[in-house]
Amino acid sequence: MEKKKQVLSCIQPTGDMHFGNYFGAVKNWVDLQQKYDCIYGVVDYHAMTMPYSPKKLRENTWALIFNLIATGIKPEFLFIQSLIPEHAELCWIFNCFASYGQLTRMTQFKDKSTHGNEQDSGGFISAGLLDYPVLQAADILIYQADYVPVGKDQEQHLELSRNIAQRFNNQVGKEYFVLPETLFTEVPKVKSTADPSRKMSKSAGEKHYINVFGDEARIRKQIRSAVTDTGDSTSGEMSAGIQNLFELLKAGEQLDAYDQLMKEYENGTLKYVALKDAVADTLVNISNEFKARRKELDSNKKEVKNQIKASSANIRKKAQQTLRDVKELSGLMNVKF
Ligand code: ADP
Repeated sequence: MEKKKQVLSCIQPTGDMHFGNYFGAVKNWVDLQQKYDCIYGVVDYHAMTMPYSPKKLRENTWALIFNLIATGIKPEFLFIQSLIPEHAELCWIFNCFASYGQLTRMTQFKDKSTHGNEQDSGGFISAGLLDYPVLQAADILIYQADYVPVGKDQEQHLELSRNIAQRFNNQVGKEYFVLPETLFTEVPKVKSTADPSRKMSKSAGEKHYINVFGDEARIRKQIRSAVTDTGDSTSGEMSAGIQNLFELLKAGEQLDAYDQLMKEYENGTLKYVALKDAVADTLVNISNEFKARRKELDSNKKEVKNQIKASSANIRKKAQQTLRDVKELSGLMNVKF
């Protein structure tokens, strides 16, 4: 049997999981598990690049692990980054193969370090913020990943990973690292229901995201009050708010309801409240299923944590092998104490 390709993807433990994260990333991860060998990381080292609370970081890390398992990620595929310190060690080595100029040109670095984000960073721009794409390269290459499922916003970072891998291979005179490729999947872009001109996101504040594990009444209220008419209704085009509600219905795989309501929209008979009720029911059903699984997991907290420590230890073996190879190839000491 042919060996399955290696998929690697990571998510930062920065707070609640919202329906943008779920439909735009996590749901795809769950599906990929069927076809590929997957490694999914909760990357807590990455969550330190902006000002953060140490107590919350650990809480958020475990909460995200529990939430990912509840949504259908297999625990054996999951690791916590800081349990595998080789990521940080490889990052240092890669720093010496990464171009400083290229790092300063990363769009995300420019966005987060300059315009309008002073409130997030408290005016303090850490070197970690500049360097985090190198840590990301280490996250990917340490597992010799073939595919990385990322969105457009991360393509530049994957290119950097390939550049680092190539420069390393050239320097040591061996095609050691495989060059990782982007795994493109059509995923919905979910908008904020409070302001459909922007994406659903935690960073914009509480009303701009719907928590997958949130309270049912709040989910319903957020959908009920979703902005539908965003001004110019004479253009004949579907408003961004309505588009977003249809998108959510489709993402939730309610295709019959989608077709029916779309027909009504085209006939001009659609009642927005009917669309909103259908979307709210869809999200609430998904949320209830996940919350029930989360409750089960919570009643076995210790066991789940031990399982993740064990899976991290297992995944770490791959990382350690890569690091031994890398140290050997790059002339560093490689002694087993
Ligand atoms: P946030 O913007 O809330 O901080 P993150 O940047 O942590 O979310 O995103 C984690 C993952 O979720 C990424 O893979 C990202 O592409 C995906 N994602 C985030 N927001 C959305 C959205 N509104 N629509 C689709 N995917 C999203």
